[in-house]
Amino acid sequence: MGPIASPSNDASDRSPLVPVFRFAPSPNGYLHLGHAYSALVNFEMARAVGGRFLLRIEDIDQARCTPEFEARMLEELRWLGLEWEEPVRRQSDHFGDYATALERLAEAGLAYRSSMSRGDIRRFVAAHEETGAIWPRDPDGAPLFPGRAHDPGEGGDIWRLDVAAAIDHLGGARDLGWTEHGAGPEGETGRLAADPTAWGDFVLARRDMPTSYHLSVVVDDALQGITDVVRGRDLFHATAAHVLLQALLGLPQPEYHHHDLVVDETDGRKLSKSRGDTALAALRAAGATPADIRRIVGLGAPRS
Ligand code: GLU
Repeated sequence: MGPIASPSNDASDRSPLVPVFRFAPSPNGYLHLGHAYSALVNFEMARAVGGRFLLRIEDIDQARCTPEFEARMLEELRWLGLEWEEPVRRQSDHFGDYATALERLAEAGLAYRSSMSRGDIRRFVAAHEETGAIWPRDPDGAPLFPGRAHDPGEGGDIWRLDVAAAIDHLGGARDLGWTEHGAGPEGETGRLAADPTAWGDFVLARRDMPTSYHLSVVVDDALQGITDVVRGRDLFHATAAHVLLQALLGLPQPEYHHHDLVVDETDGRKLSKSRGDTALAALRAAGATPADIRRIVGLGAPRS
């Protein structure tokens, strides 16, 4: 069986020959060197092929994302020398688009309500592991959701994708895959097979966040006509969930390029927003120029 309904894609009137790139930060902290690298790489790849460059604000987590962080991110991206098309798409302005996609999945019987909280899952898994068995983890290291059979379900306000039913609906997972121009953590590149079961029945929406990262990112990449997703290697495994949703919703599939992560030179750890030392604001306050930032993240002089 094919997709559950035909896609609506407002990018369809644009020439498919013009590549479209996007940088999609979440304004839940300060911009750090990792963001700067990802943004610059996207921007320059778009320039190099005469493509378009879009900025998308991924602020579905309204408890952590703020207009102040957003304003600051935009200002710092401009300072770095980036230019993007207006208007900028802000996900919190488009919750209806994600709700429509969720409805289509639910109507096809591929999404279900769950009532197990993160705490419930932790307790379930701990009880299982007491016997010495190891419960499977997702690629981010979180225990997999135990599945519909163990979930009281009724009245729950968490929506999950029934991954087994979804794969069934597509007639198997054989054709699920993507083209990788960068590389995964094990050097995976080229045409890759996707294993969406690695994530278990992942979350599509919760009461306090009416969509999920996976759902909103695939809806938006399609709505914005993104042809090339260039992002950090930490999101490589998420692509398996994304291609499954794209297949179910009948959305066009971009090509992917997962790039190196900027690591702290002193301890090799991935940078995070909680580590203020790499915030652009701090480096800028200490006198760093945009050219210095490029040098620090390993990029040469900008193309003119
Ligand atoms: N919003 C995500 C982040 O800040 C990036 C999403 C993506 O590029 O697919 O990590």
